[in-house]
Amino acid sequence: MNIRTRIPPSPTGIPHIGNTRTALFNYLFAKHNDGEFILRIEDTDRVRFVPDAEKAILEILNWLEITHGKNIQRQSERIEIYKKYAKELKEKNLSYEDNGAIRFKMPKTGSTKWIDAIGNKNITFENKTQEDFVIIKSDGFPTYNFANVIDDHLMEITHVLRGEEFISSTPKHIQLYKAFGWNIPVFAHLPVILGPDKQKLSKRHGAKSALDYRDDGYLKDALINYMALLGWNPGGDQEIYSVSEMIKIFDLKDINSTSPIFDPVKLDWMNQQYIQSKSNNQLKKLLVDFYPDLSKLPNETTEKLIPLVKSRIKTLKEFKEQTEIFFGTNEKSNLSPTEKRITITLFSKLEKVNDWNNNKIFEILKEVMNQNKIRMNILYKIFTGKERGLPLPETLEILGKEKALSILNQIK
Ligand code: GLU
Repeated sequence: MNIRTRIPPSPTGIPHIGNTRTALFNYLFAKHNDGEFILRIEDTDRVRFVPDAEKAILEILNWLEITHGKNIQRQSERIEIYKKYAKELKEKNLSYEDNGAIRFKMPKTGSTKWIDAIGNKNITFENKTQEDFVIIKSDGFPTYNFANVIDDHLMEITHVLRGEEFISSTPKHIQLYKAFGWNIPVFAHLPVILGPDKQKLSKRHGAKSALDYRDDGYLKDALINYMALLGWNPGGDQEIYSVSEMIKIFDLKDINSTSPIFDPVKLDWMNQQYIQSKSNNQLKKLLVDFYPDLSKLPNETTEKLIPLVKSRIKTLKEFKEQTEIFFGTNEKSNLSPTEKRITITLFSKLEKVNDWNNNKIFEILKEVMNQNKIRMNILYKIFTGKERGLPLPETLEILGKEKALSILNQIK
C-alpha cells in the first residue's frame, strides 16, 4: 500500500503549535513508510476566512522543512467536484434539500464504529444520536465534513492523523465513505496538547505559532524535536532526535493516548541543547540570520563572542540581550555618587593596562571590588546598565580597551 497522509488546515488564522505538531506527525508517518504527505487548504468557510493565513501556513511548513507535495489543492477551487458528488448522493436518495442547504441522510439505527490507531481504541457512536448534517451550504459551498471526505478519497489518503476534537465528526465521515462505497482510511486522533496548568493551551503558553517561536529565537530543529515529543514516546531515555532518526523509528503505536503537557522550560532546555551542539560557524550563521546587525561588528569580535555566548544562551534572542554593550544599545547606567567615584577609579586603573586580556582585566576588577567592598553586579551595572550578563573580563577583552574606556568616560 502506498501510504498517503495530509494536513488540511483551514485558513481561519495562523496555525498554533498543536496544528503544526499534527502536520509533523503526518509528515513523519508518511516518510517512515516511504509514502507521501500533502497539504490541502480547506478554505470553504468564507465567513472565517483570513487572507494571510495561507501565507503563514506555508511559511511555517517551509521554515520547519516539513515538505509536502508541490501541488497544493485549495477547496475553493474545487467547488464543482463537490457539487458533482452531492448530486450522486441525491440520485441515491441519500440527501435532501433543507432551507436552501443540502443535508445527508444519516442512518438512524445501528452504530458507527472504528478502531482508532491511537491506543487501538474501539470507538462507537449510536446512529440514533446522529443528525442529518449539511453537506452543501445555501451559499453553494461544501461543509468541512463533506469536502474533507471527498478530498481524502480523491487524494487517496490512507491515514488521517488529526486532533481528537474531530472524533465527533468521524461517524459522519465514515457514513459518507459508506454511502459512496469508498475505502475508509485509518483514523488516528491525537490527544490535545495541554498547558502546564492542565488547561487547553492558551496564548500564554504554547498557543503560539511556530513563527512566534522562530521570532523568539528558537531553532527549527529544536522546535521540531520538542513538538515530536509532545505525545510521541519511542521509549528509552533518548530525548534528542534528528528528523532523519525520527523518520526511521516513527510508529503510531508510540503515540500516547493521554494528553501531552506543553512545558516551556523543557523547550528552553531543548533549544539550549541544540544551540550548544552547533559548531561556532553554524551558530554564527543562525545568529546573523536572526540578528542582521551582527554583521556590522568586526568579524574578529563576532568570532570571539560566539564561543562565549554559546553555553550561556537558551535562545537566539538572549544573544541580543546579552551583547547589547557591543552595539551600544544597552541601557544607560543610573549610578549613585559612590558608583560614579568607583567608575573614575576603574577608568584610571584600566587605562594603565597594556596587556589587555581577561586575566589582567579580572585582576583589576577584583582589586576595585575589594577596595570598595562591592560585588561584580555593581561593575556590570557600570558597564552595561544591567546587574548581570556574560562574564565581564572576557566581555571587556573582546570589546577592546578603547571601547571599554570610552564607556567609562561617558559616565564619569
Ligand atoms: N480543516 C480541518 C482543520 O482545520 C481539518 C481537520 C482534519 O484533519 O480532518 O483542522
